Amino acid sequence: MSIWIDAGHGGKDPGAVGKGFLEKDQALTVALAIQKECIILEKKAYLTRSDDRFVSLPNRVTNLKKDDVFISVHFNASQSKTASGFEIFAKKNPTLEIKQLQNDIHRNLLILNKQYNIPDRGKKFADFYVLKNSKCRAVLIEILFIDNQNEMKKIIGTNYYKNLALAIAGAI
Ligand SMILES: [Zn+2]
Repeated sequence: MSIWIDAGHGGKDPGAVGKGFLEKDQALTVALAIQKECIILEKKAYLTRSDDRFVSLPNRVTNLKKDDVFISVHFNASQSKTASGFEIFAKKNPTLEIKQLQNDIHRNLLILNKQYNIPDRGKKFADFYVLKNSKCRAVLIEILFIDNQNEMKKIIGTNYYKNLALAIAGAI
């Protein structure tokens, strides 16, 4: 089993934009941190991108094998600028194994995010390209709202990303 950590967006695609923050950069920082914690836990972990480059959606999922795990890392944004919280997506009509992975990560993030006052938006289901086209267990995590300045203030200058990476790596 290999763990594939997928930093959303990259290169010409910045993803969501917050005040002073780009989704593509924050997602890469989180993905690198998750890989590091996986390796410490002696799990094989790879990145779909390890620097600021554009990778097409098909190329992100093309190397997956059936018993792999795919974790896509994204940050949310909202018209309201005050929306907050984390959510974890799986594809619609997921297998039990996918549901289990979603549950395990959700449980760990719930414990962590209580300490940082980041609300739970729940477990959700949507046929995003990388979820629908992964031939293995796959989830997509919206870490928090990058365009909500109050939410970003909760984590900047803290150990949040390290703790987040530990919570996710420990759930796989
Ligand atoms: Zn995104």
